[in-house]
Amino acid sequence: MKKLIELDKKHFIHPTSSIKQQQEEGAKIIFEKGEGIYLTDINGNEYIDGMSSLWNVNVGHGRKEIADAASHQMEQLAFSSAFSTFSHKPAIKLSEKLASIAPEGLNAVFLTSGGSESNDSAIKLVRYYWKLQGEPKRRKIISLKRGYHGVAAASTSATGIPEFWDMAGHMMTDFAHARPPYEVSTGEAIQSIRHVIDKEGADTIAAFMAEPVQGAGGVLIPPKDYFKEVKKLCDEYGILFIADEVITGFGRTGTMFGLENWGVIPDVMTFAKGVTSGYIPLGGVALSDHIHNVLKEQALGTMFHGFTYSGHPTAAAVGLKNIEIIEREGLVENSKRMGEKLLQGFKEIKDDLDIVGNIRGIGLLGAVELVQDIEANKRFPSEYQVSAKVIEALHQRGVICRSVSYENTDIICYSPPLTINEDQINTMVEKTHDAIFSIQKTLGV
Ligand code: PLP
Repeated sequence: MKKLIELDKKHFIHPTSSIKQQQEEGAKIIFEKGEGIYLTDINGNEYIDGMSSLWNVNVGHGRKEIADAASHQMEQLAFSSAFSTFSHKPAIKLSEKLASIAPEGLNAVFLTSGGSESNDSAIKLVRYYWKLQGEPKRRKIISLKRGYHGVAAASTSATGIPEFWDMAGHMMTDFAHARPPYEVSTGEAIQSIRHVIDKEGADTIAAFMAEPVQGAGGVLIPPKDYFKEVKKLCDEYGILFIADEVITGFGRTGTMFGLENWGVIPDVMTFAKGVTSGYIPLGGVALSDHIHNVLKEQALGTMFHGFTYSGHPTAAAVGLKNIEIIEREGLVENSKRMGEKLLQGFKEIKDDLDIVGNIRGIGLLGAVELVQDIEANKRFPSEYQVSAKVIEALHQRGVICRSVSYENTDIICYSPPLTINEDQINTMVEKTHDAIFSIQKTLGV
């Protein structure tokens, strides 16, 4: 164990981590095994994976049939190119499957290795579309403050969380951020997008891009009519709508894709994470028939965009098996039913404890906010690090969750595997109650 921690410090640069903390404290947990909703570390401690790791292990851990599908495909054809119109069965079948479950009219997919690549690809594809349409000035992307779209060049710029720009500055130009519909009304949030359009000029805007539910921003669920209004506004100005379904796809919110909750169909949809439940890296961009038709009819030369692993055969075989499991086991429906139980559990915690403010959930995507003053919705001073303490208390009790605490927010996020059952939800809720209560006591509330 000690040796592994030393090797980790010396050689492993962790993604989205504090390098200082790693060097001072070593790796937080070294995982060894996953089974269902549980993770086990190298000391034999078991944890509920309350976040599906990175909001992605939708079908739960330890699925032998996915390992078998990967193994079979690797033996058959581990890799071959999809450039220059080369093709293979797994990518063709996965694309067909994705078209069959995607929202109406999104029937063609470009495959990638993850969410950031998907969002960068979507942004390049919409710019390409406008260029082919004779409107090359339409390059700008409007996204939302507190939105998270990844860490590649375009996706970093589309992200609306300033910490992600601090590291190396904005990566690309022609991005603007509007106000999300959480602190302000739907009307004001729509007005904010309209304001950006007017300021930048409608004829320079390629697309609006948003997560159906902001995940990394703190599980922020929009009001019922928000996306309908957004779509109307986009249509008014001929702006394309890109839905970033990287977290919300594949059953997470109780529907196959998140926007279905509000009956809105995007022009472009990006996905990753739940498409393989994290068993192998894969993502993609689904395009509407209209955009695909423009590409088919007007993109005459080579489209100079493609990753070595666009359409990776093994990843595609894993994706197919994963979707088969989601459908066969009714995991979208389970997400909806168990999500209702989770929200009910949050309500009971809120009724009982003094520092629980807003609670929310949609399918198995949920959040509990911690506040000093419920009436005034006032947070504890940031130096109290309340959410970090609750996360630690949950960790001690065998539950892994995630906190969001920028701008003085104290949010505990939940995104368990879609296979979770009622007993397991109850355990997670009881442990959450216990963990928050233990911190509440120390705050003298
Ligand atoms: N979009 C959203 C909504 C995400 O939550 C994430 C990752 O958390 C990404 C994009 C980036 O995906 P990846 O980390 O696979 O590049």
